[in-house]
Amino acid sequence: MHDFIYTTQPSRGVFGAGSLKHLGREIELLGARRALVLSTPEQAAQAQRIADLLGARAAGIFPRAVMHVPIETAREACDEARRLGADCAVAIGGGSTTGLGKAIALLGDAAGGLPILAIPTTYAGSEMTPIYGLTEAGVKKTGKDLRVLPRTVIYDPELTLTLPARMSVTSGINAIAHAAEGLYAQDHNPVMDLMAEEGIRALADGIRRLEGDLHNIDARSDCLYGAWLCGSVLGSVGMSLHHKLCHTLGGSFNLPHAETHTIVLPHALAYNAAAAPQAMARIARALGADDAARAMQSLARDHGAPTALRDIGMKEADLDHAADLAMTASYWSPRPLEHAAIRALLQRAFEGAPPSAD
Ligand code: NAD
Repeated sequence: MHDFIYTTQPSRGVFGAGSLKHLGREIELLGARRALVLSTPEQAAQAQRIADLLGARAAGIFPRAVMHVPIETAREACDEARRLGADCAVAIGGGSTTGLGKAIALLGDAAGGLPILAIPTTYAGSEMTPIYGLTEAGVKKTGKDLRVLPRTVIYDPELTLTLPARMSVTSGINAIAHAAEGLYAQDHNPVMDLMAEEGIRALADGIRRLEGDLHNIDARSDCLYGAWLCGSVLGSVGMSLHHKLCHTLGGSFNLPHAETHTIVLPHALAYNAAAAPQAMARIARALGADDAARAMQSLARDHGAPTALRDIGMKEADLDHAADLAMTASYWSPRPLEHAAIRALLQRAFEGAPPSAD
């Protein structure tokens, strides 16, 4: 066994179908009295339901979360929290809403920021990380600060039943990507390795069982359990080539988050396969397959998710620039970055070709 450091993150998780009923108790345990409920416009009805459930403990709702957390939206949410006298925020939704919660935890003027209770309804995993993103003047900056880590997370699979088929698969593979890269992280450790392998297994199994049966609550539960595990890995160890490529593609070419992850992951795994054989063996075992990269692409294809960047808005003419951008960011990768190989990887991802190490 290699030497390692393991730091526990201070976060409380409440799991189970119907666990939303514990919301009042959890707010009380946070020592809060008035919660501002955050959501996207699309999930405003769910936010209202949360406010109704909270009754006198609801300060109001702010249903205006959008992708990439524009700083203007974060400031408006902080102003609204102040105006309504909120002493905590409840974020119901995916990574965009959790991201808004994190921004007001960071920027809000309550002592130490507002504590956040997150209720995830996708598998993105942001609720388990101290990583935040803020977009100012079109540039998204990310940072790490323990204040933004939600104090409590309620994982209620009933709230994920409405997640459309395609997003269920792509969001699940987005989560798997955190665990897959966590397995070959420079600072990986035995605890996170266990969580990563189990997270991949639970999500892959859940995704397969959701096929044609989106209301399968057991499969939804397994996916959310997997999302918690994979999100914990993302919050604990460093990410590598795959996340940097997706950050570049999403940030500079405006590609959709979960779909980009789904398409790129098999190719990033193939790129690193020879340099990280133990990680690949664990990923393959979790997928019940021999080859991790090919099995990841099959998981997406077999369940109706996209496998080619050209199908989600990428232009072939931009691939050279994308490869240049990927090379400029400095980050560790088990296999060092080689421009020609990264450019070839992007070409294969663009075309939806089989993953390959060349
Ligand atoms: P999202 O939050 O942008 O949600 C996409 C859409 O799906 C929204 O309209 C949302 O309202 C809707 N939606 C969410 N749950 C639903 C449900 N159960 N039923 C129906 N519709 C639902 O998407 P996402 O993929 O969850 O999050 C992506 C964002 O999160 C990106 O900006 C990414 O950078 C960020 N993220 C951050 C971290 C982190 O650690 N900071 C981790 C993962 C993702």
